[in-house]
Amino acid sequence: MSSALQTLRSVFGYNEFRGHQAAVIEHLIGGGDALVLMPTGGGKSLCYQIPALLRRGTGIVISPLIALMQDQVDALLQLGVKAAFLNSSLDGQAAWQVEQQLLRGKLDLLYVAPERLMTPRFLELLGRAELALFAIDEAHCVSQWGHDFRAEYLQLSVLHERFPDVPRIALTATADAPTRREIAERLGLTEARQFASSFDRPNIRYRIVQKRSPRQQMLNFLETEHRGDAGIVYCLSRKRVEETAAWLKEQGWDALPYHAGMDSDTRQRNQQRFLREEGVVIVATVAFGMGIDKPNVRFVAHLDLPKSMEGYYQETGRAGRDGLPSDAWLAYGLGDVVTLRQLLDNGEANEQRKRLERRKLDALLGFCETTVCRRQSLLNYFGETYSAPCGNCDNCLEPVQTWDGTVAAQMALSCVYRTGQRFGVGHLTDVLLGKTTDQVRRFGHGSLSTFGIGKEFSQTQWSSIFRQLVAAGMLEVDMEGYGGLRLTPDSRPLLRGEQKIALRKDPESGAKQPKGQKTPSRSAATGSGAPASSKEGFQIDSPEAEALWQALKAKRLELAREQGVPPYVIFHDSTLLAMTAQRPRELEQLAALPGVGKQKLERYGVAFLGVIEAH
Ligand code: ADP
Ligand code: ZN
Repeated sequence: MSSALQTLRSVFGYNEFRGHQAAVIEHLIGGGDALVLMPTGGGKSLCYQIPALLRRGTGIVISPLIALMQDQVDALLQLGVKAAFLNSSLDGQAAWQVEQQLLRGKLDLLYVAPERLMTPRFLELLGRAELALFAIDEAHCVSQWGHDFRAEYLQLSVLHERFPDVPRIALTATADAPTRREIAERLGLTEARQFASSFDRPNIRYRIVQKRSPRQQMLNFLETEHRGDAGIVYCLSRKRVEETAAWLKEQGWDALPYHAGMDSDTRQRNQQRFLREEGVVIVATVAFGMGIDKPNVRFVAHLDLPKSMEGYYQETGRAGRDGLPSDAWLAYGLGDVVTLRQLLDNGEANEQRKRLERRKLDALLGFCETTVCRRQSLLNYFGETYSAPCGNCDNCLEPVQTWDGTVAAQMALSCVYRTGQRFGVGHLTDVLLGKTTDQVRRFGHGSLSTFGIGKEFSQTQWSSIFRQLVAAGMLEVDMEGYGGLRLTPDSRPLLRGEQKIALRKDPESGAKQPKGQKTPSRSAATGSGAPASSKEGFQIDSPEAEALWQALKAKRLELAREQGVPPYVIFHDSTLLAMTAQRPRELEQLAALPGVGKQKLERYGVAFLGVIEAH
C-alpha cells in the first residue's frame, strides 16, 4: 500500500482518496508545483496535509482566514498531527514559541497569515527552517476582480524566488476561467500542473421560489425541513439582517445577525456560536462566510438575490461541505431586480465595470427563470457540461409548466408603451385590470385602449408576467425615474407578432412544497432536524435511531466544550450517522467507520461505544 493511502487511513480514518486527491498528493510528494481547483467540500486540505506529513520538514499554509486558523489547527491536533499557527492574535511569547518549534523541526504544518509571512524577518526565519511545501489556500484572493482580493497575496510570488526547491500548491474553489488564469500568472504558477475537478456539488439541492411573503415562505421551508439544523440566511442590507434575525428569534429559532456594521466583538461572538454550537442560524450579509469551514451547514437561504452567478455559487457552496444532503433555497421577485439595478447604477464603478455587472445580473436572472435543470444551467455557466438533468433540483423534481404567454406579453408591452414607458408594475397592472385608481384618473389612463383588457389574469399573474419580461430582456427598469418599465429593442418582434413567448407558470403559493421534494427524515419524528441520509444511504427513520443520534451528538458537544473546540473537530456528522447505522460494539468495528483514525479511536472510542451500549 502506498504511504499516502496508509496515512489517509491511519491518521484521517478515511478509506479511499477522492477525485484528484491521490494524483495531487503524489505530484507534490515528488516535488512538483500544483494548482488545484476543487469545489468547496471537495477535499482540498488533504492535498497538502498528507504531503506535508510525508515530506521532510514543515508544510507552510498561507491563509487569509485568521479567525479560522485556531479551528483548523485544533482539528489537526485532534488527529495527532503536529500543527500550529502564527497570526496577529498570538502574543509575542506564544509566537516566539511557535517559531522555535518550526526551527527545531517539531511541526508538520504551520498556518501563517500572508502579512506575517512576507515580513523580511519571517522570510529569513523560513530560510533557516526545513520546509516541506508551501500551500496557498484561497488562492483567488490574488485576483483583483474577485471580491476577496488581498493585496498581500500579490507578493507571494516571492516565495518561488526565495525557495525555488520547495514545492508550492495553490488551491481555490473559484470556478471561472479568468480567475484561474490570473492565479497562475500572479503566483508564478503557469508551469505548475493544474488539477481541475468538476464543480458540481451533488449533495446540494437547488431551489428557487417566487417571492410572495418571503419571510413566511422561508419559515415554512425551515420548519418543514430543517428544524434544529445549522444554516445561513443571506440578506442584502444590514437592516434586513437585523430585522430578519430578530424575527426568526421570535419564531423560536436560534438566529444571530452578522454584518460588517456590527462591532467586531459581537460579530466574532456570533460567528463563534455558529461554529461551536449545534443548530445556530446565522443571518448575514455577504460579509459572512469566506472560508467558513463548518462542515454541517445544512441550508443556505437567500432572502435577496445575490449579485451574480459567481456570488450565488459561492454562497450556496457553504452548505454541505460534509457531503450530506443540504439545501440551497432562494426567494426571488421583480423587486430584487429593481433594487440590485439601482445599487449598481448608483454605484461608484466605471461604465465598463457597470456593464459587466449588469451582464452578470442578467445571467443570474436567466438562471432564476430557467425551466430546465438548475444544476445543468449553473455548471454550464461555469463552462462545464453536465449531461443529463440532475434529479436533485426544483425543476427536475417538479417540472415547470409553461404556457403560451404571447398574447398576455403583447398586452403587457403595449400597456407599457401607451402609458408612456415610465410606470411601475403596480400601476400597469391596475390599468390592465381596469381599476379606476387615483393615479389612473390623474393620468387619464382610463381611456387607453389597454384599460381593462387584462381581466382574465390576476394581479399575481401579471406580476409574474412582467417579471419574466424583464428577465427576458424585453422590458428594462428605468433607473433615472422611479423604477418605471421601458421597452427594449428586443420587445419589437413580439409586439409585431413575429415571435412567441413561453412563460413559466409560477406555483399558486410559493410557500407550498412541491411534490417529491419532501425529505421527511431530514426532520425526523422528534423534529430535531437530522440529516436525511448519509452518502451510504443511511436514514434516521425511527424515533429509536433518532434518540441514539441525539445521544451521540450530545456526547460530542460535551467533549467539544471540555476542550473549547467546535464539535465537528471531534467527529463529523457523517461519522456519528455511521455509528447510528452500524452500532459498533468493539473498538475494531468503530475504527472501520469513516473519519475514525488512530488518534480519535484512542481518545474517544470508549466514550462513544459507551453511548451506543447504554442505548
Ligand atoms: P475543501 O477545503 O475542499 O472545502 P475539505 O478539505 O474541508 O474541503 O474537505 C471536505 C470534507 O470532506 C471534510 O469533512 C473532509 O474531512 C472530507 N474528506 C476529504 N477527503 C476525503 C476522503 N478522501 N474521504 C472521505 N472524506 C474526505
Ligand atoms: Zn436538476
